[in-house]
Amino acid sequence: MARKFIVGGNWKCNPASAKEANSLLKEWKKGLPNVDKSKVDVVICPPALWMSTLAPSIEGLGMEVCSQNVGKTDAGAFTGEWTAGNLLDLGIKWTLIGHSERRTKYGETDADVAEKVGKCQDIGVNVILCIGETLEEREGGKTDEVNKRQLGAVIPKVKDWDKIVIAYEPVWAIGTGKVATPDQAEETQAAIREYLKSAVSAAVADKVRIQYGGSVTPENCAELITKPNIDGFLVGGASLKPSFMDIVSKVG
Ligand code: PGA
Repeated sequence: MARKFIVGGNWKCNPASAKEANSLLKEWKKGLPNVDKSKVDVVICPPALWMSTLAPSIEGLGMEVCSQNVGKTDAGAFTGEWTAGNLLDLGIKWTLIGHSERRTKYGETDADVAEKVGKCQDIGVNVILCIGETLEEREGGKTDEVNKRQLGAVIPKVKDWDKIVIAYEPVWAIGTGKVATPDQAEETQAAIREYLKSAVSAAVADKVRIQYGGSVTPENCAELITKPNIDGFLVGGASLKPSFMDIVSKVG
């Protein structure tokens, strides 16, 4: 099955002001590539406070807004959180869940990630589920085991696999400038797809899109995207630059 590519720009807690964010979007508009929207989806994850204000400009570029996170509960006394329902209410149809920075810096567990995915599935919010191993786990030969554990925790919550994208992001490659080699990424992502085949079904394994994330740049993306199990990228640092459009055009 030909899977449609998907590229995400994860701005994290950047840039420093909404003014800078707007300037970046204006730069993108100037360099807007002629991408074939039937071949590539592009989602942008700005800091939560700016999701609504930036939405018209992002959507004007033919891209969609994606939250970087979502709460695991329904509405209630949960100071500082927002719900999947709040996202839909704002017209935001996507969220990242389980980014390694959420797991390591905010103590999110596999169970938390699964609950969040469940809430999104209940109301139809699309999820980019981030999984991936640390350097220690890779060096200890545990890469596939970690990915299976992180993905396996979520599988019971998924009813609609059309609303799930997986982002394989080795922790050692995130923000380090150390990108996985195309062979390393392909081998690991093929193993993730194989696991989906045995744990869910061949049809689901075939259709779920798997992004690679971790130090993706306009320079290294062209070779990575030739690999059959790499269906796009989740881009951090390089999505804060005008040249992010080069990544989009190399994929689409
Ligand atoms: P990076 O971040 O591209 O800066 O390595 C990727 C991510 O955290 O999603």
